[in-house]
Amino acid sequence: MRKSQLLIILALLALLTSVSLWSAGATAAGNPPGGLPWFGWAGACLFLAACGVGFAMLDAARARRRLEELPSAKAVEAQKTLGLTDELRAKYDPAGPPYPHPVIVTERCIGCHACVEACPHDVLAIVDGFATPIAREQCVEDTSCQVECPVSPKACIVVNTTKVIPPRKVPTRDSRFMTIVAGCYIVGDVSGVPLIKNAANEGADVIRHVLEDLAASPPVPEAELDVAIIGVGPAGLSAAVVAAQAGLRYVALEQDNVLATIEAYPANKYVYFKPETMESRGGVEVPGAGLQREELIETWKRTMIARGVRVNEREGCKSVSRAEGGDYFTLATEAGEANEPRTYRARRVVLALGNRGTPKRLGVPGEDLQIGSGGRREDRVRYRLADAGQLRGLKVVVVLMNSRTGEEIAALENDLVFALIGGERPTEFLKSIGIEIA
Ligand SMILES: Cc1cc2nc3c(=O)[nH]c(=O)nc-3n(C[C@H](O)[C@H](O)[C@H](O)COP(=O)(O)OP(=O)(O)OC[C@H]3O[C@@H](n4cnc5c(N)ncnc54)[C@H](O)[C@@H]3O)c2cc1C
Ligand code: SF4
Ligand code: SF4
Repeated sequence: MRKSQLLIILALLALLTSVSLWSAGATAAGNPPGGLPWFGWAGACLFLAACGVGFAMLDAARARRRLEELPSAKAVEAQKTLGLTDELRAKYDPAGPPYPHPVIVTERCIGCHACVEACPHDVLAIVDGFATPIAREQCVEDTSCQVECPVSPKACIVVNTTKVIPPRKVPTRDSRFMTIVAGCYIVGDVSGVPLIKNAANEGADVIRHVLEDLAASPPVPEAELDVAIIGVGPAGLSAAVVAAQAGLRYVALEQDNVLATIEAYPANKYVYFKPETMESRGGVEVPGAGLQREELIETWKRTMIARGVRVNEREGCKSVSRAEGGDYFTLATEAGEANEPRTYRARRVVLALGNRGTPKRLGVPGEDLQIGSGGRREDRVRYRLADAGQLRGLKVVVVLMNSRTGEEIAALENDLVFALIGGERPTEFLKSIGIEIA
C-alpha cells in the first residue's frame, strides 16, 4: 500500500471519530465513547480494513502489469531506434536471458575495445577481433558499454533494460574545438568520438582554427612557440603535419611512440575507417573503407618523414597553465628514461591525448627492450592487452601488482611481458588545466 492511501484511511478514521464524539452525548452503557454503538464501530473498522486490502491489491496488479508489459514495450522501442531489428536480435541473441545484458551486432563492430574498457564487470572481451559477451550474468545494467560504442548505429546494445542511456560525458568545447580555457583546444578521441577518421579530420581542422586565432591576436614575445600539440595519435599527427605545412613554430609531444594506440592493436588487425559517409580531410590519408594496421602505420610514418614533421617521442606533458599576465601557456614535460624536466611557452595548445590514459610503467632495467625481426620492431613490455587470442603459444609474464615490500628477484623466461599495473585517466589532467567535463 502507498503512503497516500494509508493517509486517506487514517483521515477517514479521524473523521468518523470526531463525528461520533461531536454527536449528542449518547454514550450508552457498554458502548465505546462517542455516539456510535459497538456494531457501528465494528462496521467502520471492517470498511476501513477492506479499503486497505483493496488498495494493496490494486497496487500489486499495477506493479505486475508494469513488469509484464511496459518494460518490454519500452525496450523494444529503444532497440528499434538503435537499429536492433528482430532479425538481428534473433541472429545475435537467439537464446538470450531475460535480464539486462549486452548484445553485439558483429557486422557493425570495429573491435575498438571501447565497450570492453568501459565495462566495470568484465562482461565483454575481444574475441577474434570483435566484442563478445563472455559473462552476461555479471552485467549490472550500468549501460556504459553502449554509451561508449562509437559506431552508428551502435554495435553494442544493452537489451532488456528500461534505463534511459545517457550520452558520453565529454570536455566542453565550442564549434572551433576551443575549451573553456581560452586558447586551449581539444580534439580526437578525448573529446568524445573514438574514431580514427574523425580524429584525423579534427587534427587538421584545429590547426586551421589556430591559424585564424593567431592572425587575429597580437604577437607574444614571451612565447617561443605558436602551438604545442600534446599527444601524437591520428589527431595529433594530422595536426602536426598541417602545422608544419603552414610554417607554424610548433612542438609535438608524445609520451610513448608516435601512433602508440594503433601500434598496440593486435597484429594484422583490419582498421576500419568509419563512418563511410564522412569525407576525409586530415593531414594524413584515411583512404576507403580501411587498411591493415601495419600498412596504416607505415603509410602515416612515411607521410610524417616526407613532410619533415618532428615529434618528441617519450616526452610526456605533466602540466599546462595559462600565463597570468600574457596570452600564452607554460608547459612542463618530462623527457626520456631519466625524466628530464623541460619547459615550453606556446601561444596555443592542442590537446590530442586520446582516451586511454597514461599507464604506470615498471621502472626496471630492460623495460624498453624491442622484439621482432626484419623491419618490424615491437615493444617487449606491453601496458595493454589488446587481444589475448594473438598470444597463443607464447611465453607471457603478467605483472599485476607492483609490490614494493620485498627484495624478491625472479628470472622468468618470456616472449612478452604485460605490465597491467594501472594508470591515470586523462580526466584528471584535463581538470588540472581548468577544462570542464559535462
Ligand atoms: C584495439 C583497438 C582497435 C580499434 N580499432 C579502430 C578501428 O578499426 N577504427 C577506428 O576508427 N577506430 C578504432 N579504434 C579507436 C582509435 O584507435 C581511436 O579513436 C584513435 O586512436 C583516436 O585517435 P587520437 O589521436 O584521438 O588518440 P590516440 O590514438 O589514443 O593518441 C593519443 C596519444 O596521446 C598520447 N598522450 C596521452 N597523454 C599524453 C601526455 N600527457 N603527454 C604526451 N602524450 C600523451 C598517448 O600516448 C597517445 O599516443 C580502436 C581502438 C582500439 C583500442
Ligand atoms: S551494461 Fe554495464 S555491466 Fe553490463 S556489459 Fe555493459 S558496461 Fe558491462
Ligand atoms: S565499442 Fe562497439 S565497435 Fe567498439 S568493440 Fe565494442 S561493440 Fe565493437
